[in-house]
Amino acid sequence: MLIVKKFGGTSVANKERIYNVARRCIEDYKKGHSVVVVLSAMGDTTDDLLALANDINPKANKRELDMLLTTGEQVSVSLMAMAMHAMDVPAVSLNAFQVGMNCTSRYGNARFKRIDTDRINHELDSRKIVIVTGFQGITKYDDYATLGRGGSDTTAVALAAVLHADLCEIYTDVDGVYTADPRIVPNARKLPEITYDEMLELATAGAKVLHNRSVEMAKKYSVPMVVRSSLNESEGTIVKEVVKMEKMLITGVAADKNTARISVIGVEDRPGIAFKIFNKLAKNNINVDIILQSVGRDGTKDISFTVSQDDLKDALTILEENKEPLTIKNITHNEGVAKVSIVGAGMMTNPGVASKLFEALFNYGININMISTSEIRITVLVEESEIDKAVRARNLILQNKICKAKGGRISVLYLC
Ligand code: ADP
Ligand code: ASP
Ligand code: MG
Repeated sequence: MLIVKKFGGTSVANKERIYNVARRCIEDYKKGHSVVVVLSAMGDTTDDLLALANDINPKANKRELDMLLTTGEQVSVSLMAMAMHAMDVPAVSLNAFQVGMNCTSRYGNARFKRIDTDRINHELDSRKIVIVTGFQGITKYDDYATLGRGGSDTTAVALAAVLHADLCEIYTDVDGVYTADPRIVPNARKLPEITYDEMLELATAGAKVLHNRSVEMAKKYSVPMVVRSSLNESEGTIVKEVVKMEKMLITGVAADKNTARISVIGVEDRPGIAFKIFNKLAKNNINVDIILQSVGRDGTKDISFTVSQDDLKDALTILEENKEPLTIKNITHNEGVAKVSIVGAGMMTNPGVASKLFEALFNYGININMISTSEIRITVLVEESEIDKAVRARNLILQNKICKAKGGRISVLYLC
């Protein structure tokens, strides 16, 4: 069997943890499996490197930032190989150059384009454990680029896909995927299984347990995936195409504080204006999330939308520079907002869910700024200060209204 095992920062934070990971990988290796290990940077290394850069130059160039950030993963893979050697097991560490992991040139948010398998297969054939740097790729200019925060998950899934691995295991500091972030909601429940679609919505909505692009890729290439703890033997959560569904499902709650609201005020109320505004942003690689348009008055209207905080500065600059052609009278923004989402397959077939959620938020006195939905997700924008309260409110709905159905699947059984 070929297994790709990915370990996050906390799982390799110090010497003891590195040896713990080495032992877990060697166990599989000694059973005769081929083992590819993907690692993140140790502990808070990436945050520390970002702080260092910010101290030197708060407007650091994105290429140089990626040059700096990719060093974190190189430290952990080489130390891991040394630990395995100390345990008399053949292992080799490789970075994105050595593997040939090619990506787009968008520094800080690159996507994989092509991954070579020759070097890895060659090392596996000579019975080595192969340890690969997560989070990084090589651009067509031979520069390093990173995949966005949490991107090592995507490295692991991408490798599992191209190597046709039998399993991709994502090891982290919690026992699996929960109905809500177990650090915010202590009584959140661990899910034995979750579908790719639900997991993708949860991850995109801010559940950072998995990088959303890793889930996208796992679905696209049908990569068998499990999320589990590196600190115990608990079984974890299987992420797969379909899970047994019983009645209406609400799978989980996620929160995302990395969001900001922008409002463009007084734009002309005529066809094509919204297109021009969002086209301008899209051309500059700015992802827009929830959009709300006011009813027109005196031939003008207001449009509000959310972007990630990382894109806020760029978005404001672009809008400011194009105020006239886009007919914008005024631009306002608010960084103190956060998104809270509830996700579950089949949610839309039950009209009671949305109103239950709004009732719970009302009971907590939480004001909703904006709402967006997909077939299996409802997201509301609230003040950031309310977010933990909001997650708890939504989780309360889950706790009160769900019970364990047959086969351990969490189902919403009573909605009203
Ligand atoms: P790693 O460093 O292993 O990649 P991350 O910090 O990126 O770990 O992701 C794991 C964290 O995700 C957990 O510690 C937990 O606080 C958070 N999290 C958010 N939502 C969820 C959820 N629904 N289920 C499990 N963990 C979640
Ligand atoms: N080290 C990177 C980060 O902290 C990548 C990862 O952990 O997945 O975002
Ligand atoms: Mg992560």
